[in-house]
Amino acid sequence: MINRVDYGISRRQFLASTSFASAIGLLAPHALFARTESVSGPGLVEKARTGAASATITVDRLRGNISILLGAGGNIAVLPGRDGKLLIDAGFAGARPKITSTLASISSDPIKHLINTHWHFDHTDGNEWLHSEGAAILAHTNTRKHLSSTTRVEGWNFTFPPSPPGAIPAEVFDDERTVELNGTTIALKYYAPAHTDSDISVHFVDADILHVGDTFWNGFYPFIDYSTGGSIDGMIRATQANVVRVTEKMIVVPGHGAVGDKSQLAFYRDLLVNTREKVAALKKQGKSLDEIVATKPTAATDAKWGNGFRSPKDFIGDVFKGV
Ligand SMILES: [Zn+2]
Repeated sequence: MINRVDYGISRRQFLASTSFASAIGLLAPHALFARTESVSGPGLVEKARTGAASATITVDRLRGNISILLGAGGNIAVLPGRDGKLLIDAGFAGARPKITSTLASISSDPIKHLINTHWHFDHTDGNEWLHSEGAAILAHTNTRKHLSSTTRVEGWNFTFPPSPPGAIPAEVFDDERTVELNGTTIALKYYAPAHTDSDISVHFVDADILHVGDTFWNGFYPFIDYSTGGSIDGMIRATQANVVRVTEKMIVVPGHGAVGDKSQLAFYRDLLVNTREKVAALKKQGKSLDEIVATKPTAATDAKWGNGFRSPKDFIGDVFKGV
C-alpha cells in the first residue's frame, strides 16, 4: 500500500506553485527555456540553481520506509536506518537547507550513502555538501567521468567545469552492483546509453520500488542529452526494458514528475515510440524540423506534457536529432 504524506503544504498549494518554484525546483519550465534563448545574463542552469533555494519540497512516503523528496531537482529517494541514510540523487546544492530539514523530519540518522542515477547537475549538484556531511558516493563510471572533466551540454547551452573533489563518486561500477544497507538489498543496473551515457536504475528489492532516473519523465516531455550519449532510440530501449521489468505491484520513481506505476510507464513508452515513428517518417520525406513541428505530431499530449521542462517543439527537436 502506498501511503503518501505531504509536509507543510497542501496538494493545492503545491499545484499553485508549479508555475514557478516547483517547476524550477524540478528543473525549469518551458517558459524559462524559451526566455534563456533570447536573454543574456544568467542562463537556464544558473536560474535553476538560483531558484532551488526557494523551491518547495514535498515528501511522498512509500512502503518499506522509503520516501521520495520532490521539488529539489531530480526526485530524491531516501532510505533511513541503522547504517545511516541512503539517498538516491542529490538535487540542487541551493536546496540544501530545505533538503536538510526535510531529511531530519524523516529520521535522525546521519547521511552516509549517496547513489547518483546519472551525472546531470539537477541530480548531482548536492554531491559536495552531502559528501561533506559524510556520504560516500557511488555511481556509474561515466557519471564520474563527466563530473571529473569539463562537459558541454548543447541542449542547455552550458559548459560544466569539473566538479570539486568531494562531489566526485569515490566508487563506480560498469554494469551491475548490489548494495546491502539498512537490512535491505539495493540492486543497481546500467541501462546502456539512453538519456545520457551514465543512466542506472536503482531497485529497492524488498520494497519493490524502482527508481529509473531520467529514463522516465512522468507527465513531462523528456530532455534527451545527445551531448553525453543520449538519444531517442536509447531512451526507447531503456523505457521498453523498464516496461518489461516492472510488474503491476511495483512502484516506479521517475527522475521528474510524480511517483508512478507500470501503466504510466507504458503510456510514456507509447508516447516515445509513436512520436519517433511520426517524426522519422516526415523527416524521410524531406520535411524540416519547423515543418514537422507545424504538423503537431504530439497534439494529443501537448496540453498536459508540453508545459513543463520541454515544450512540444523542444521534444520534437530532440527526436528529430536522432532519426
Ligand atoms: Zn537528467
